[in-house]
Amino acid sequence: MKIFADYHTHSTYSGDGKGTIEENIIAAKKKGLRILGISDHGPKHLGYGVRKKDIKKIKKEIETLNKYHTEIDVKFGIEANIIGVDGTLDLDETIKAELDILLAGYHFGSIPSKLIEGTKIHFYNYLGSLVPTFERRVRFLNTESVIQALYKNDIYILTHPGAKASIDTKEVAKAAVENNTALEINSSHGHMTVEYIRIAMKEGAKFVISSDAHRPKDIGEVDKGIKRALDAGLSVDRIINAENS
Ligand SMILES: [Zn+2]
Ligand SMILES: [Zn+2]
Repeated sequence: MKIFADYHTHSTYSGDGKGTIEENIIAAKKKGLRILGISDHGPKHLGYGVRKKDIKKIKKEIETLNKYHTEIDVKFGIEANIIGVDGTLDLDETIKAELDILLAGYHFGSIPSKLIEGTKIHFYNYLGSLVPTFERRVRFLNTESVIQALYKNDIYILTHPGAKASIDTKEVAKAAVENNTALEINSSHGHMTVEYIRIAMKEGAKFVISSDAHRPKDIGEVDKGIKRALDAGLSVDRIINAENS
């Protein structure tokens, strides 16, 4: 099994990305990828989020580079933050309309839409990691946020489900199937785990394997993700960016 697309990579437009968009493209071409997603952090990611005023600039830059690097199809994406229990993302409709692909995930370092509600999510997630009795409550809130986000937005990829926030994988997988969203097997985070992949598989979910590269050299580096997919018994036809090698 190998991948022909890496939809989840960060550029210098994310505060924690090291490569320019073109450096990412060159690295992706070297890896033999046919599709590359530039998917920087949504604007509400504390310190690392893309600046709203850069959105048009990024789109233009990708358009220009696509004309020059004709062997690869570069997609303009954003890894949006789920910032409310009601499934709110940190992107308004005008930004969403500019994108080729919308990715979304939960991140601790995101600024909540409503302070009290969001602080509650962060706080519960923090406590849940320390005190097991909070786990159920946390799980419920996280699962609800993700499911709402899936129904309210046209999300192509749900990034690293289960990482950073405990969720009910079965319920999230059902919502992902209904909304035609791929669940990410993230090679950097260790999520989804083999166990979670198996649960989501039973619901008929489709998957994507990503690098989540923050440096050009990590683009297309998905061996860990492929191993987990194989260990779970996942076949190529269930993975939107994989083919037989
Ligand atoms: Zn992420
Ligand atoms: Zn990411």
